[in-house]
Amino acid sequence: RIPVICVDGPTASGKGTLAAELAHRLGYHYLDSGALYRITAYAAIRAGLQPEPAHEAAIAGMAATLAVRFSGGRVLLDELDVTDAIRTEEAGMNASRVSALPAVRTALVALQHSFRRLPGLVADGRDMGTVIFPGATLKVYLTASAAQRAERRHKQLISKGISATLPALRADLEARDARDSSREVAPLKPADDALLLDNSGQTVEESVSQVLQWWNG
Ligand code: C5P
Repeated sequence: RIPVICVDGPTASGKGTLAAELAHRLGYHYLDSGALYRITAYAAIRAGLQPEPAHEAAIAGMAATLAVRFSGGRVLLDELDVTDAIRTEEAGMNASRVSALPAVRTALVALQHSFRRLPGLVADGRDMGTVIFPGATLKVYLTASAAQRAERRHKQLISKGISATLPALRADLEARDARDSSREVAPLKPADDALLLDNSGQTVEESVSQVLQWWNG
């Protein structure tokens, strides 16, 4: 059986950083499932489709045939570099809107499963442990206070030269979490067998060590 570690949790909880570092240490593949929703939203809007139920079937069709490639830390859509374009707050909000469309979620299942290859996979998202890889070897549900998460997101944006205010960022991520938690299909919640990790007061290294300890334990 191919080992899978799932890291799920709310917006800006540090899932991406933790999951990528774990994958690096273990020599495993890495799936950033949020990127797939971001790319789908980007492709939809580019095609003139708003991420709304009226366009569910059309957007799901695009999701099922996404010409996406992850290469050297860059994300390519139809060979176009969309790495930065899909990382804006607006792109995150649009991703959250397309991700609430059940047909879109279904359309992305096979692509996500295709990342499960030897020697193993670390997958990060909202429903890795509950829906996509229910039989995963280890499931981690990562949380941090909203204040902490807003602050981290703020630092990230500032370091990229993007200006943003803390209250606006916090309102944004709370709105996104509310939508992600209340949707009917694959709502954001810990899997029954997930281990909870609150990284509010932790460094990345401390979180990584904790998970590796669970993994080896
Ligand atoms: O993790 P990230 O912020 O990049 O995800 C963007 C959006 O995609 C989330 O707000 C969520 O609505 C959606 N998503 C999801 N299921 C996943 C990963 C992301 O619904 N497995």
